[in-house]
Amino acid sequence: MTSNSPTDLDRVRTRHRDLASRLLPGGPLEHYVGGEWIRGTADDTFTSVNPTTGDPLVTVHEGTKTEVDRAVEAAWDAFDDHWWDSTPADRQRLLQQMANRLEREAEKFAQIEVLDNGKPITEARQDIDLAIDHLRYFAGAARNLEGKTVPHGDLHIQTVREPYGVVGQIVPWNFPLLLAVWKLAPALAAGNTVVLKPAEQTPVSLLTYVREIEDILPEGVVNVVTGFGPETGAPLVSHDRVPKIAFTGSTEVGRGVMKAAANTISDITLELGGKSPLVVAPDADPERAAETAVDAMFFNGGECCSAGTRLFVHESTAEEFVPAFLDRVRNLQMGDPLDEATDIGPQVSRAEVEKTLHYVTLARESEARILTGGGTVEEGLLAEGCFVEPTVVADVAVDSPVVQQEIFGPVEVLIEWDDYEAMIAEANDVDYGLAAGVVTNDLSFAHRISRDLKAGNVWVNTFNRLPPGQPFGGYKQSGIGREGAMETLHEYTQTKSVTMAFEE
Ligand code: ADP
Repeated sequence: MTSNSPTDLDRVRTRHRDLASRLLPGGPLEHYVGGEWIRGTADDTFTSVNPTTGDPLVTVHEGTKTEVDRAVEAAWDAFDDHWWDSTPADRQRLLQQMANRLEREAEKFAQIEVLDNGKPITEARQDIDLAIDHLRYFAGAARNLEGKTVPHGDLHIQTVREPYGVVGQIVPWNFPLLLAVWKLAPALAAGNTVVLKPAEQTPVSLLTYVREIEDILPEGVVNVVTGFGPETGAPLVSHDRVPKIAFTGSTEVGRGVMKAAANTISDITLELGGKSPLVVAPDADPERAAETAVDAMFFNGGECCSAGTRLFVHESTAEEFVPAFLDRVRNLQMGDPLDEATDIGPQVSRAEVEKTLHYVTLARESEARILTGGGTVEEGLLAEGCFVEPTVVADVAVDSPVVQQEIFGPVEVLIEWDDYEAMIAEANDVDYGLAAGVVTNDLSFAHRISRDLKAGNVWVNTFNRLPPGQPFGGYKQSGIGREGAMETLHEYTQTKSVTMAFEE
């Protein structure tokens, strides 16, 4: 792992400050409502912090129920006034233009994501490319909102898929712009207008993107209100004029969103937590398996709901696999996320560092062994920013919170297995069911385990790959609904049946 001297810290600080002053508008950043930039009535602001240096990045207006109400009203006005009459061609054109604008400034948005979230620039570029691809996918999907006809004697029944009207969307901080686009694109393609709240830790990329596209956005169709969960998110998800809510975040908050939606019988899509198993089969090539396991766990610094955080290694491969895996983990480059060679940047915030270290402490206090990592770094940049060493723990009790709960940081739990049925039972024995993976060349093993794992996504010989068209979502307490695919478009519509009687 890299170590950083104080000089490095100065150099990195200057580099980040220069880039921020070149790319970001001056704060405080305002809400975008009804085609205008507005301040909060209370004029309160909060600061988005650069997690690499700990420096303030930009100040942002903090929304309250008042701004949420204004945004919902603006979104309904737009829906009733003009967006309801938009054709699939109009919506396709808008989404294509949104994709083209993002593509034109792709590097700028990747850099903004690094400044605000701390993810390595190489991964930020993947986020932006994927966001562009999702916009294009849903531009095409907009043309596919078809109904059906049902013959029934003297009745002619036809169905149409209609938009809900105004959709409320809440996104988290781990893939800020990508997940905003995952939500915006299908909602717009289906003909809805949107009120979206980005995460308080990472509002900058979305606000900057909206500035970039405001001349092509029809007034009031996209509205963005920034702020914290309880003050800004809660009034949106409990709003009596928001009939569809889409939320990505923790299972705990998701449960509250579901309760709020019950009051108004609003439809919900929830993409929540995970504690995904990755199974290394008896036949797996140790090097290949090690590479997949590192990607599965440490992509985005472990801040990934689908991360392969429980690594089940067959005991026949463990002797070769474990050293190969630990070697790769120890060789991950931790450092300035703007450096091309960096594999692991900072966690998004101090709070996330504390949360991750809490689980490492729990592991230390039990019988568990820390095989590598397990702490923060004490000097230079790595001490100043929100860095946590990539960590692997073994021999953790199966009922420990380290095995059962989502950590959302770079902490892998290594588990050896020999009996298939016992391994499957343990792999499925968590509240979550978002994703799972297997490394094997044994076709029957791949089929059998794909059927037995209780998860919405199973990856074979790969992990965390999510091209548009592949439905993504969870079993059990990992969520409701699927994103990124044709069925997502349908989740942003409701079916109307029109039944006509023939005249005799
Ligand atoms: P994390 O623990 O990963 O930060 P959260 O579930 O707390 O995830 O946050 C995800 C998103 O949900 C953020 O945009 C956050 O502001 C929002 N949020 C948090 N609490 C609430 C709430 N009570 N109602 C609506 N949104 C919320």
